[in-house]
Amino acid sequence: MTPLQVSDPTKCTSFFVEPVQWMENALLGVLDGQLLCPKCKAKLGSFNWYGDQCSCGRWVTPAFQVHKNKVDEVKPLSIHRR
Ligand SMILES: [Zn+2]
Repeated sequence: MTPLQVSDPTKCTSFFVEPVQWMENALLGVLDGQLLCPKCKAKLGSFNWYGDQCSCGRWVTPAFQVHKNKVDEVKPLSIHRR
């Protein structure tokens, strides 16, 4: 067992994504807020330029967080590239 706290992706309830074009209007000029679906305006997640903590304990800065249960696992966004 390692004493290091390793992030366990299975514990993550959210994806952290790169900001993409449809988020732009929501992101500009504010420090944090919600990410809404560009089509149906459903809440997909949230963002915070100062960072946010994943459910697995990992800090991500800046954080663009999309709830896993709101999106399909196969996705066009550049998720999980880190
Ligand atoms: Zn996580």
